[in-house]
This record gives sequence, structure tokens and C-alpha cells, in this order.
Amino acid sequence: MSLSPVRLHHVDFAAIDVTARTEWVFARFWDTEGAAAEVEITAAGITEGVVGQIDHAVSLLRGTPISSEDDVPIMLDVDDQSLGADLTNATAVSALRTAVSIIQALKSGVSLAEALGGAPAVVPLYANINRGLFASGRTPAEFAAAAERAVSEGFRAVKCAPFDEVAPGTPTAEAVRLAVTGIERVAAIREAVGPGVALMVDCHSRFDVESAVKVAGELGELGVVWFEEPLDPSKDPAGLKLIAERISLPLAGGEHGYGEASFESLVSSGTLEIVMPDVKFCGGAAAAVRAGRAAIAAGGGVSLHCPSGPLSLLTSGHVNAAVAGSLRLEHAVYEADWRSTLLAPAERIVDGSLHFTGGPGLGVELDWGMLQWTGRVWRVS
Ligand SMILES: [Mg+2]
Repeated sequence: MSLSPVRLHHVDFAAIDVTARTEWVFARFWDTEGAAAEVEITAAGITEGVVGQIDHAVSLLRGTPISSEDDVPIMLDVDDQSLGADLTNATAVSALRTAVSIIQALKSGVSLAEALGGAPAVVPLYANINRGLFASGRTPAEFAAAAERAVSEGFRAVKCAPFDEVAPGTPTAEAVRLAVTGIERVAAIREAVGPGVALMVDCHSRFDVESAVKVAGELGELGVVWFEEPLDPSKDPAGLKLIAERISLPLAGGEHGYGEASFESLVSSGTLEIVMPDVKFCGGAAAAVRAGRAAIAAGGGVSLHCPSGPLSLLTSGHVNAAVAGSLRLEHAVYEADWRSTLLAPAERIVDGSLHFTGGPGLGVELDWGMLQWTGRVWRVS
């Protein structure tokens, strides 16, 4: 598909509080002809830096024709390696790249999925119950109840991050002892949802090789099908490889990776079986498509990381629809009951699957009135 160049003009920002620990942040990129692309830029703890980088980049690029999102890093003189080590800049560049792809899709009158080489689809999701439980007592019973609710609403796969008690860096024996409560949370979920639901567990890099192997054994007994980031793949890929050789559970991870090559190499090196590019960080929508296809070609799996708001979920859904063989897409459930209405038309999740609303680009707009009224809207320059 040949797409016309984009000339950026200016950018607006918006943020809205979701829970005591979560704020969703958005950027709306305008081109010189009045087309607008909305992109989620939520990145905990670095919002100010991301907003500053985006604003600076838009002023640098203002009015210059951008013929494809691949041109953005070249025009900004940044490469995959430096972006892989700088989450703030990676988020800013990813947002710009996604915006270029969305504006090009809008101008061609096609959906983002089609512009990325896919077709509109119904995208199966898994329910990440973790964020919705931040305000709870995080007891095994509360984990079980959240999982049960998700299953009753049609989700067939549930993920949690149960190891609150284990701080990263805890010595092996102590980590194994402290992991018992986390394993009880997973056991309570299994008991509540029965054997037919896929259970996935995220470890948020809290273990070392030995404690991870031990915990993976326990989780395997509970029928867990996905063991996410016992170690941080960007800091200790060699350790992950050692774990992979000793456990039978598939290792998943890579949510902060940037660039197709980094995901391809996580799979081909035997570090991870399933990679999790995040459209907000990995280089944007087209980069996520290429990362996913490369991971699958290398013999691995891909499941997009998206513990985020409805705009990121929909963008990720379009990416998922362009990567044949993608695994279920992540959806953070039960954070805010008003979530679906932040988009018009509203976010549509039925029986554990995301439905597109149709129309060019993403086919939706953020409700800027709601953002203005209950959140904040601003422009930097
Ligand atoms: Mg994770």
C-alpha cells in the first residue's frame, strides 16, 4: 500500500487518574492538513520526560515530510541500541512512529490493521487481574474472586503477579520462603476457575536462577502455562537462559524491549519462548508487527504487552490482527468502571475478545471533554 507523507504540526497532551497507582497519558498529534492521531503514552514515573521529548521532536520535525514511520528515528538521529537503553526516549519515538502510521491509515481510508498488512479481526484477550487488585488486601481469596469474575465474563486465560512479598535481590532461600504466599494466590485462582482456564504468572524480576527454578516447579504443578520475567531479560539474559534449560514452563517477557532485532534475538538465543513487545515502548505499531513476525519466524511466540488504557489496547489489537499466529493480547481488567467510555465509539470487549469499531485508523476518538473535565489537557509549546 503506498501511503502519503505526513507533515506534523503540533501535539496536545492529556492525562487522567485511573487508580491511586495508575494514570493514563495520551498525546494527540496533528498534521498540517488537520488530521489527528491519538496515541497512549502511559509510562509510569517518566511522563514528564516523555512529554518533553515528544514536544521537542515535533518541533524539530514540524512541516518536514515523513514518508514512513521508519524515517522517524533516522530523522531524530537515534538508533535501536540507544533507544533500547532509554525508556523515556523509546516511548517518545514509539508514540511518534505510531502517530505517523495512524495518520497514514486515516488518509488512505483504511484501518490501522490494514495499513500494517493485516485485516480487521476479533482479537482474543487474556485478563490481567493484577492492576485491578492494587486497592484490595491482595489476599488469595481476592485474587480468586477477580479471576472468577473474568472467567464468568468470558475470558479463558488469566494472568496475575502474585509475588508481592519477594523484593528483587532477596537471597535464594528467603525468596523461596517468601514466594509461598504468591503460590497460595495462584492456587486459590486455580481452585476457583477449575482446570480449563489458562493461568499465567508474572514475576516482575523478583527471583534469581535458583529461586526461579524452584518456584516454576510449584507453578507447573498448578498447571500454569506462562512464567513471565523471573529475571529482567534486559539485565540478565544469560540467567534466563539457564532457567529455560531447567524448567518446563515457557518463559515470557521483554515488555521494555525496543526494535525488531532485540525480540528476534531473545527467541533465537533461547532466552525467552514468548516475547511481549509493547507498542508504547518497542518502536510503535509497525515495529511491533515486525517484532512479532520475526519472533514467530524464529520459532517463538508473541503476545503484546498491554496493561494499559483503551487506546493502547485498541492499537495493540490492530497490531495483533496484522501478525498471523499472535497469542492472546493482554488486557488489564477492573481498574476503572468508566474505562470503555473514554473512547467514542466505546471500547467493545465481548466474551473476552476485543472488537474493532470499524472506520479508518483506529476508528475511535478519545473523549477530550471527559479528559478535560476529570483529568487534565495541556499543550507544551
Ligand atoms: Mg510483566
